[in-house]
Amino acid sequence: MPSRSGTHTYQRESGRTRATERAAHGFAALPALFTFTVDVESHPGGGGAAAPTRRLLDLLEATGSLGTFFVLDEVARADPALVREIARRGHEVASHGHTHRHLAAEGPAAFRTGMVAAQRRLADLCGQAPLGYRAPYFSLTPAAGWAPGVLAELGFAYSSSILPARNPLAGWPGAPSRPFRWACGLLELPVPVGRIGPLALPFLGGMYLRWLPGWRLRSLSRDWAARGDSGALWSYCHPYDLDTAARLVRRADTGRLASLMLWLNRRSTLPRLQGLLQGRTSVPFAARLGEIGASAVAWGPREGSEAKYGADDLGEGLGPSPNLTPPKA
Ligand SMILES: [Zn+2]
Repeated sequence: MPSRSGTHTYQRESGRTRATERAAHGFAALPALFTFTVDVESHPGGGGAAAPTRRLLDLLEATGSLGTFFVLDEVARADPALVREIARRGHEVASHGHTHRHLAAEGPAAFRTGMVAAQRRLADLCGQAPLGYRAPYFSLTPAAGWAPGVLAELGFAYSSSILPARNPLAGWPGAPSRPFRWACGLLELPVPVGRIGPLALPFLGGMYLRWLPGWRLRSLSRDWAARGDSGALWSYCHPYDLDTAARLVRRADTGRLASLMLWLNRRSTLPRLQGLLQGRTSVPFAARLGEIGASAVAWGPREGSEAKYGADDLGEGLGPSPNLTPPKA
């Protein structure tokens, strides 16, 4: 049952019902089961992650859904009560890493050390170790091919860190668009992408969900559903996508235009997320691993090359590019 505060917030927000209905119509072709995911991180100029994360918790509660929250270790350190609340309200708590940097820039040694600490903190806060990981910026790219091996070694069961296409920010062209298993045993859940000409866009999340026109979201949803072999459906968002009171601040990690685009158009986020949840149930990844894993294909670097890196790589911060084998259907 929704809590009093949850229902109250949801009702107050549901004033934009026409926008929600339009969004729901646009997503109608998508399956009834999906996973609503959140990358819990803060954003410069905003009021922090806590308030908008609680709005997302209220939204999920009011619609009877549970999601997966990938928490950045910096947030877990600063606001342990928020992490406990996410877990207490029934959601899966997973890791968004220990710092918001591209994996390839970080390197295997720093990644491993940071992830051990991040994993321990979430385990202490939630009473169980996280099963899932999402790389900042979907930065599991060929230059970070060592990361799945490190995650498997630390006991993670799955990652949802790959954008399976060429993308200006980060991507792994040629990776399967459906769930697959790395040779180390880690399950990978690539972000669902929609194609517009040569572009492959993770249309159910972040800036894409905010900026794409409604008719485009509808056609991408239809195309995704029509492909049939697209695999597990999931969406993603950030607390700051809802933070309409934030000031415009140029982010250190992006250009001026990207900073502006990340700041504008945040009012469209909530009705679109509500539309996605209308007539659809979100189940955390942790509860879907059996079903998803059963049909996962095997894919990745050739046997023996994965997760092996020499002393040079540990110092340099860039792992070897793996030799790719074609996806097994
Ligand atoms: Zn992030």
